[in-house]
Amino acid sequence: MKPIQYQGIAASSGYAVGPIHKLRVRTVVPVRRSIPPEEIPLEKKRFQDAVAQARDEIQELIQHLERDLGPEEAEILSSQLFILEDEMVWDATLAAIQLDRINAEAAFAKTVGDVTARFLEIEEVTFRERVNDLRDVEQRVLRAFLGTGPVEPDLPEEPSIILARNLTPSDTATLTGGEVLAFVTDEGGATSHVAILARSLGVPAVVGLKDASKRLKPGRTVAVDGTEGLLIANPDLETRDRFTLLQRRLVDINEKLAGLKDLEAITPDGHRVRMMANIELPIEVDEALARGAEGIGLLRTEYLFFQRKRIPSLEDQVTVYSEMVRRMKGRPVIFRTLDVGGDKVTDYLGAKREYNPFLGWRGIRFSLANRNLFKTQIKAVHRAAAAGPAKLMFPMITGVAELRTAREICEEAVHELEQEDVEYAAPLDTGIMIETPSAVLTADLLARECDFFSIGSNDLIQYTLAMDRGNSRVSYLYQPLHPAILRAIRDTVNAAHDAGIWAGLCGEMGSETRLAEVLLGLGLDEISLHGAALPKVKQVIRWTTLSEARQVVDELLSLSTAEEANRWLEDYVTARKKERWEGAQNEQ
Ligand code: PEP
Ligand code: MG
Repeated sequence: MKPIQYQGIAASSGYAVGPIHKLRVRTVVPVRRSIPPEEIPLEKKRFQDAVAQARDEIQELIQHLERDLGPEEAEILSSQLFILEDEMVWDATLAAIQLDRINAEAAFAKTVGDVTARFLEIEEVTFRERVNDLRDVEQRVLRAFLGTGPVEPDLPEEPSIILARNLTPSDTATLTGGEVLAFVTDEGGATSHVAILARSLGVPAVVGLKDASKRLKPGRTVAVDGTEGLLIANPDLETRDRFTLLQRRLVDINEKLAGLKDLEAITPDGHRVRMMANIELPIEVDEALARGAEGIGLLRTEYLFFQRKRIPSLEDQVTVYSEMVRRMKGRPVIFRTLDVGGDKVTDYLGAKREYNPFLGWRGIRFSLANRNLFKTQIKAVHRAAAAGPAKLMFPMITGVAELRTAREICEEAVHELEQEDVEYAAPLDTGIMIETPSAVLTADLLARECDFFSIGSNDLIQYTLAMDRGNSRVSYLYQPLHPAILRAIRDTVNAAHDAGIWAGLCGEMGSETRLAEVLLGLGLDEISLHGAALPKVKQVIRWTTLSEARQVVDELLSLSTAEEANRWLEDYVTARKKERWEGAQNEQ
């Protein structure tokens, strides 16, 4: 048989060759039944019992994961407990039983269906992926109604590649035995739970393979490339050998990188850079810690708002923020205040689609126009700071006037907290994101009035090179090595240091391993990036002296175009890799 290649999304790196084991999915579909008024209390009780049983099952699964993988991986399933305890889910289900007079399972399925539909409307990938959790919880509760107990997936008897249309977090969690060579699914994205768990397990995974599960029969041999997102059916002998060799090499590299978790990002000549993580949701805290993050360098708080259909109350925010701060165990969390507008629009906040959204009502502009909303968030962060180190950061600042107004609101917030009988910490270190050319040009003035800078390179590139970051036709202009960008970062860092404050970077540039030396040479004190990219970037920093990195930057700054700079850096990185490889060989 000829090899057939399927392209999916790379979810967990690594290579595997083996037979397919298909997971059978048995979906429970509830029957809707009208109930007489006297059965309402009984149905409510059935709902409570089913939820209690589902909760017990999830807790058991969490313990199982904790035992096999550790507490951080087990936390992935706790978001399912939150769903079960969610007030909105309870209220809506009880209301449907009471008002629509329908049986409990139908009422619960209706509620989950409504929440799912709302999540799917949100354009953010993270929300679409959380739908998987909702469906998983829904099925568990529906099975509890039937009294059938949890369905154990049929585990493979020999080492196999698990193929399914979709894998729920609990399926994945039960498949942690040694017989799983890789996970491949039709659905899912790079940040779905199957991807997160597969990465924790160190098992290769490819998701988003569309209809592969329909086309491939159990027992058929396939090769999986989780690094490139490929699935090859009927691989020839050469492919099998190549994949086996690549997997062996990867295991060696990962063993070395995992050993970096508790080491500092320090250059051989003693210069230290703080390595922090960017996160959107509380669930990502554990992943950040597992990768060795020294703190959260960017918490995109708007995601907490997007997760709900109403503005979260002060108390809600205090609860979520404090919990995150506590879970970071003394490591700082930088709370970026609401950054809505642009491509992040939600109707209930009143930020609408605009003709020029990125030049419109977004970031700090929105917050200053919604003073009470902003002040509430600032109060919540100050209160969360009672639980551990927290800092505040304002997005999309264009000049000192905005910074002053924002800081005045902070003072007002603290003044109000003084009158209330609550715990809080003040003053908090307060920084700004450098994302606009005007912020770069006035960095010396801004640096006098705040405690730190964090360069948002995604927006800084967008605004400096006049390229809409969401428009694929101009995406070729996303050029981190454009002379304008290099100069902007250099000038920002210099202005910060001249004023005695620190400067970090939290845009996607930080996650590109090839740019690690450049960021080091530009003098950044902190890099905040995706957890997954952290070990590799740290490794490069630990390999490079500050003076080498400065030479790289001098070289790049002497070039006139991004193309020249890319070419130069590519040659340089290739030569350095070769040197290190040879060095490592000689050491052995
Ligand atoms: C940035 O602009 O680089 C940044 C980190 O913020 P966001 O991507 O959330 O706009
Ligand atoms: Mg930004």
